[in-house]
Amino acid sequence: MTEPTVVLRNVSKVYRQNAVAVQALTEINLDVPKKDFACLSGPSGSGKSTLLNLIGGLDRPTSGEITVDGKRVDLLGKSELAALRLHRIGFVFQAYNLIPVLTAIENVEFVMQLQGVAAAERAAKARAILKEVGLDGLEHRRPGELSGGQQQRVAVARAIVSEPSLVLADEPTANLDSKTAGNLIQLLQHMNQEHGVTFIFSTHDKLVMDFSRRLITLRDGRVVDDVRRE
Ligand code: ADP
Ligand code: MG
Repeated sequence: MTEPTVVLRNVSKVYRQNAVAVQALTEINLDVPKKDFACLSGPSGSGKSTLLNLIGGLDRPTSGEITVDGKRVDLLGKSELAALRLHRIGFVFQAYNLIPVLTAIENVEFVMQLQGVAAAERAAKARAILKEVGLDGLEHRRPGELSGGQQQRVAVARAIVSEPSLVLADEPTANLDSKTAGNLIQLLQHMNQEHGVTFIFSTHDKLVMDFSRRLITLRDGRVVDDVRRE
């Protein structure tokens, strides 16, 4: 069997603020195999964002072990973490997080520029992926000139253009109407199948949950359910 992309062992996270401790996650154990399309669900405050941030190395666990692509994320130094995030992990956020002064194609190229990809290859890859997400002809628009659904498609293109092994998406459909949300999830599914990328995304939208092959439910920082449907 191939090594899982993501492994969590007894992961806990406590936030401390002005002597107040918030137990956000308690003893999480999770295996996410390669090419999985896993949905994290649970009410607001159940720990979805915290879990995604820990997996993506944006924050550190208070205790426990997190392995991504065979690397212990919880033990990596700052620069190693930055390199892992740049080359192995794609992020999609609720608020799109595109760079407003850059066009769609420039936003997609930006990450490749940081990765040191040559200009001609960058442009070709960015054009191809924007076409794949259905934005043919809109490459030169800035985020402000695109709808929410279109902006999120740019964000998906940006996250996936370098074929990372893992894409993390925190409530990627939260700001979209239900039809646009459904289309976006279908796009993520297409990317998952065509590019063989592992996806972990969070939502509290029932429609989005119905699309996922694996539904992990969090409550008060614990995994209370983990079901797989094929
Ligand atoms: P969800 O994404 O499911 O809404 P979060 O991971 O954002 O849940 O939050 C889990 C818990 O941790 C909540 O009780 C929240 O208030 C708390 N929390 C999240 N981030 C912080 C932070 N930076 N400082 C203190 N508490 C936090
Ligand atoms: Mg959240």
